[in-house]
Amino acid sequence: MSVSGLCQICESRPAQKRCANCGTLACDVHFEDPKELCVECVAQADPSRQSDDVDIHRF
Ligand SMILES: [Zn+2]
Ligand SMILES: [Zn+2]
Repeated sequence: MSVSGLCQICESRPAQKRCANCGTLACDVHFEDPKELCVECVAQADPSRQSDDVDIHRF
């Protein structure tokens, strides 16, 4: 399955997939194939990546 348009996360690479959870178009860098989720949803769904400050994105 292919999608058209830019990744809605980085807005610089062509989107490859659509997140099964939020519908965000994501490039291969920002899409977790095994989970069928964009990296933002993976971060929210993965308990190991949650912290006390869930509203703050840190990189
Ligand atoms: Zn991207
Ligand atoms: Zn998502």
